[in-house]
Amino acid sequence: MYDCVIIGGGPCGLTAALYLRRANKTVLILEKYMPGGQMAQTTEIENYPGELKIDGFDLTQKMVNQCNNLGVDFRYEEVVGCELVGEVKYVTTHQNQYQAKTVLICTGAYARPLNVENEKKYVGKGISYCATCDGNFFKNKTVAVVGGGNTGLEDCLYLSGIANKVYLIHRRDQFRGDEITVNKIKQLEGEGKVELVLNCVIESVQGVDALENINVKNLVTGDLKPLKTDGLFVAIGRKPDTGFLQGIDVDSSGYIITNEKMATNIDGVFAGGDVRNTPFRQIVTACSDGAIASLSVLNYLSR
Ligand code: NAP
Repeated sequence: MYDCVIIGGGPCGLTAALYLRRANKTVLILEKYMPGGQMAQTTEIENYPGELKIDGFDLTQKMVNQCNNLGVDFRYEEVVGCELVGEVKYVTTHQNQYQAKTVLICTGAYARPLNVENEKKYVGKGISYCATCDGNFFKNKTVAVVGGGNTGLEDCLYLSGIANKVYLIHRRDQFRGDEITVNKIKQLEGEGKVELVLNCVIESVQGVDALENINVKNLVTGDLKPLKTDGLFVAIGRKPDTGFLQGIDVDSSGYIITNEKMATNIDGVFAGGDVRNTPFRQIVTACSDGAIASLSVLNYLSR
């Protein structure tokens, strides 16, 4: 039986694992894809203390190495169910069932789909939810990004270095993302690399075998306009990844409710990072959640 099973190997889980191993506790991280989560897919991180500018993949690697050096167990298995009430917790994956004294849930959140007709048909054939994963397929082509948050803005910056032209489609004329990033985009707009398509939403997507065209509707004028594009990167926020959980209190958007010690409504079960109902979702805040959760786990184990 593990002292703690951590579900999700992003910055929250990796930080918690590091703290718990340093306290000599047995720790298993279960990760369904690859460690780092959203962090691993971020190209340039400039707001992680101590690093002037670092690639998200490299920062992930540093955190994983630190955990490996301390003897954290990693398994690449998807959790499909949990029995969390009681002294012994059971965490079930497709392959195994694990027992734990405590469980930390830090599964993050996944990309929200646009929900336009035929969206699924073009996934992998022009539509993508990860610019850093798929951007290279669009060298010297025309692409569009939808979303005015930091992800959309950063995707736009990243893609402008690969594609010939990037349309940035946003439903308002004010961006949700950071001003410093907006200013970089405006500079690229001046250079003709980026075209801002503001107050617009995507009405439909079209193409024969792959995406060729999107139609945008201007919410102010009602006008419809076709945009010829080879790629569409959807960056309109994320949804918490909690499908495998039952009995945990969540808010109206599905994010796990915790107290300031990262404790959930179930004894011995903690949550942190983007999956919990926090107003701020940054790498450092996820790390902070992980540190707090691990200290709460230690308190729980020493009851
Ligand atoms: P976000 O901040 O929630 O932004 C989502 C964007 O998509 C908003 O501009 C929103 O428009 C738009 N949107 C939502 N639903 C839509 C729909 N159905 N159709 C069209 N547009 C829609 O999400 P995010 O950009 O993924 O960022 C998530 C969190 O991670 C944020 O806290 C962000 O700051 C953080 N983040 C930080 C960094 C960094 O620090 N380097 C990088 C990436 C992300 P409205 O603005 O009109 O609501």
